[in-house]
Amino acid sequence: MLTTNGTIMNEKIIKLFKENDFEFVVSIDGLEDIHTRNRPYISGKSSYKDVEKNIYRLRESFDKMIANMVVTKEDIPYTVKSVQKLWDMGIDYVNIALCTSGEGVYSNEDYMQWHEQMKILADMTYKNILNGTRKLVLNYIDLINTIHNRKPRINCGLFTNGVFTFSPSGDSYRCYKAVGNNKYKLGNIDDKNLELLEGTMEKSHIDKCTKCWGQLLCKDGCAYENESFKGDINTPNEEWCNRIKILATESLRIYAKLKLKGFQKYDELYDWG
Ligand code: SF4
Repeated sequence: MLTTNGTIMNEKIIKLFKENDFEFVVSIDGLEDIHTRNRPYISGKSSYKDVEKNIYRLRESFDKMIANMVVTKEDIPYTVKSVQKLWDMGIDYVNIALCTSGEGVYSNEDYMQWHEQMKILADMTYKNILNGTRKLVLNYIDLINTIHNRKPRINCGLFTNGVFTFSPSGDSYRCYKAVGNNKYKLGNIDDKNLELLEGTMEKSHIDKCTKCWGQLLCKDGCAYENESFKGDINTPNEEWCNRIKILATESLRIYAKLKLKGFQKYDELYDWG
């Protein structure tokens, strides 16, 4: 899997993706104004038109497109419009991330507004599943799979072998969020003695998580965020808890409605194993 900002794309890269069965995620923040503000080139020029053009090029060659959309505090009210814009561009799955921040940055009002937007998107995702339309919010699809399969996954790179992140320079890290943090660097792809399978950290029991209703969907939160904002990988960061509980609530709501309607449409749409 590869994450790209989508600014550089040519036939050679597209061929490489196709021949090697890459799955890729394009970072784009929805509405043009928002993307322009969040992701300018170093020169200050907007990258939006280039990314948009490259998404259309990729769309011609790939059956499935995934976007990663980051939402900042001031753009919360435009979340639905931004996702709709990406769906209209032919992107099937949009993963949404509320900009990661320390505690206290988002107020209760912000979270209420965020929940309102995510609730609308949950309803739209549900309707699209029923209509057989692949315009879906990926955060919900991941959680619905967990609920349906009853198999919570700990997919955190810190605690499992098999998930490795590489920076463009070939440095490898245990987690994509840790790129640039030497504490979690495993080495470089050119190192003769690079040991990717060493250094897995042991997962501890977190009392607060064990008592939490959302644990099976949250999977004990994000260790890297815990350390970044609480100074300890085992101390849950309340900001994370607020965000995941909103997603879990809405995913359970979609799942309950799908169970009443039958799962056939969902299985047809979710065909990427
Ligand atoms: S929501 Fe917070 S307390 Fe609950 S399981 Fe996740 S990290 Fe732990």
